[in-house]
Amino acid sequence: MAGEPQDDCLFCKIVAKEVPATIVRETETTLAFRDINPQAPTHVLVIPKAHHENAAALAAEAPQAAADVLAETKAVADEEGLDSYRLVFNTGSGAGQTVWHAHAHVLGGRGLQWPPG
Ligand code: C5P
Repeated sequence: MAGEPQDDCLFCKIVAKEVPATIVRETETTLAFRDINPQAPTHVLVIPKAHHENAAALAAEAPQAAADVLAETKAVADEEGLDSYRLVFNTGSGAGQTVWHAHAHVLGGRGLQWPPG
């Protein structure tokens, strides 16, 4: 069911502290941790603690949690001292989504090209 922890979800396991991660921020509804394979000097993932498949499902099923995630991306950027940064929500396999628990990538600390690949 939407919002419920999934046994086979890596990010649910990180929320449950069953899988280690370098956590940089935590709120009642969100968790922010460093990406294990960073693509920029700052590469932090911000996730809702509740399980939603991706950004589209999160927006539809839990709009307040979506707002909480967005607010936390700004808090991460502030803490990391980023005045320019990129937010990415890969949504669907064709867009490169590999973990099926909604997450915002916060990328910064280097020049970023546009359009992305
Ligand atoms: O958008 P996408 O679904 O591809 O992003 C998943 C991200 O989760 C990847 O950037 C990957 O490096 C990261 N990851 C992680 N810790 C893990 C497994 C994956 O930070 N244990």
